[in-house]
Amino acid sequence: MIDLLVIGGGVNGAGIAADAAGRGLSVVLCERGDLGGATSSASTKLIHGGLRYLETYQFRLVRESLAEREVLLHAAPHIVWPLRFRLPHHKALRPQWMIRSGLFLYDHLSKRVSLPASHGLKFEHTDPLKSEFEAGFEYSDCWVDDARLVVLNAMQAQNHGASIMPRTVCEHIDASLDSVSKQMVWTATLRDINSGQEQKVKARCVINATGPWVGKLGRQLQPQTPPADVRLVKGSHIIVPRMYEGEEAYILQNPDGRVVFVIPYEKQYSLIGTTEEDYTGDPSAAAISPAEITYLLSVTNSYFKKVPDASQIVHHFSGVRPLIDDGDENASKVSRDYTLELSRSPAPLLTVFGGKITTYRRLAESAMDQLRVVFPDMARKWTLEARLPGGDFESQQQLLIDLAAEFPWLDTDLLEAWIKRYGTLIRVVLGDAKTLDDLGVCFGADLYECEVRYLMREEWAQTAEDIMWRRTKSGLRLNAEQRASLTRFCDSEQTLKA
Ligand SMILES: Cc1cc2nc3c(=O)[nH]c(=O)nc-3n(C[C@H](O)[C@H](O)[C@H](O)COP(=O)(O)OP(=O)(O)OC[C@H]3O[C@@H](n4cnc5c(N)ncnc54)[C@H](O)[C@@H]3O)c2cc1C
Repeated sequence: MIDLLVIGGGVNGAGIAADAAGRGLSVVLCERGDLGGATSSASTKLIHGGLRYLETYQFRLVRESLAEREVLLHAAPHIVWPLRFRLPHHKALRPQWMIRSGLFLYDHLSKRVSLPASHGLKFEHTDPLKSEFEAGFEYSDCWVDDARLVVLNAMQAQNHGASIMPRTVCEHIDASLDSVSKQMVWTATLRDINSGQEQKVKARCVINATGPWVGKLGRQLQPQTPPADVRLVKGSHIIVPRMYEGEEAYILQNPDGRVVFVIPYEKQYSLIGTTEEDYTGDPSAAAISPAEITYLLSVTNSYFKKVPDASQIVHHFSGVRPLIDDGDENASKVSRDYTLELSRSPAPLLTVFGGKITTYRRLAESAMDQLRVVFPDMARKWTLEARLPGGDFESQQQLLIDLAAEFPWLDTDLLEAWIKRYGTLIRVVLGDAKTLDDLGVCFGADLYECEVRYLMREEWAQTAEDIMWRRTKSGLRLNAEQRASLTRFCDSEQTLKA
């Protein structure tokens, strides 16, 4: 019998598994697809307070999120880094005084240690914006590699003894009286998607962290009292060739009240997103519509001098936000805050609603606070100061200097890219490699066999898709032939493993 079965390996499930395992609980996490394969790899990838949420008075959420920026910068300096945002003033939209007041609050609602404050700015003709945008503002938030954040939390959970089971679906779950403890406990039927093998897991407590599937699983777990309603809101992004030189992101106001971000992405690209559409289908089938593409390009076009057209879109992705349904007609006004529901009947069950990538750590802490009634002897909170795997260094610049001295035969561009993925885990990725030849086959786009093997051995990657789109973003740069070769390699490695 284990203490905790976490169902769902997105950022919230992985974060809870790590927190719980670090407090000494025995934990199993099951994820029916790849870790982070659903909403948690389809976000805008911002660790942000959410400037826009100030308009809907979500001060608690904004304050907590702003504070988490500094916490996550410290915990994972390899995959989280500061990003400056430029907000062009649009004469027909929010007045300058309103934006200035919002940014003042944004700067002061929580403690800022390393992130610079906001300020006004004048645009020059050298800026990429159209000439009618003369003035604007600049402020700080952070960038995160969302998919890797999930995997690093799963690794952290495993380092504390948790068992991580990707490609394992929770098919069924029943409560029954345990004859030893005389307590009601859960028995879950888990099925390995690859082998079809079934396994029963007995747990004192279950966490439903299935994101957009929370209602579906909840109705199965508690048919008599299904959990609160969830509102599914689809959001899509497009990736285009880099639109401008600088490292700043842009936040573009639109007459519909929404904002669209244009963010430097993976050196050669710009990420544009996002949209908001109510969604009723299967969350795993969410895909961008032609109308969403037109919307994103037309908002961008209204601000920038040079905008790519639809034929230049390199990649796109869509995800489904699992929001708490507060009845608001406008999807963009529905709260992004999270709610946790603890029920003790028939057996302890904690259900996670909503939440953001930004707040996953605080959500996990709150989940553990609630579970103290079930596990009164568990250890105290610990994640505030903890580093995620590979994040035990102070600055990317210093790590680059150290690693360049240690591995002088490694190309600087490759080293820089690896620092942003693995931090100090680079030494594990490299293993015994002493020369470039030791890295093995190059599949293209600086993706070497040694990295692929590491990802399959240590980070639960199983398919070429896992590697191209979540563990790395090499899918953007590999051509069809290179992708096919990577697929063959992963398939044969998987067959050998099985
Ligand atoms: C377009 C978009 C942009 C966003 N941008 C941001 C942003 O910039 N910053 C930010 O902080 N937040 C952002 N968010 C919000 C954030 O992405 C989500 O709140 C977060 O990823 C939700 O994580 P989760 O773990 O709850 O859900 P998910 O990541 O969806 O994980 C749930 C997992 O449960 C699994 N599952 C379901 N049923 C079962 C079962 N029966 N057995 C086993 N596994 C199961 C699924 O496969 C899935 O992987 C954005 C969201 C969207 C959609």
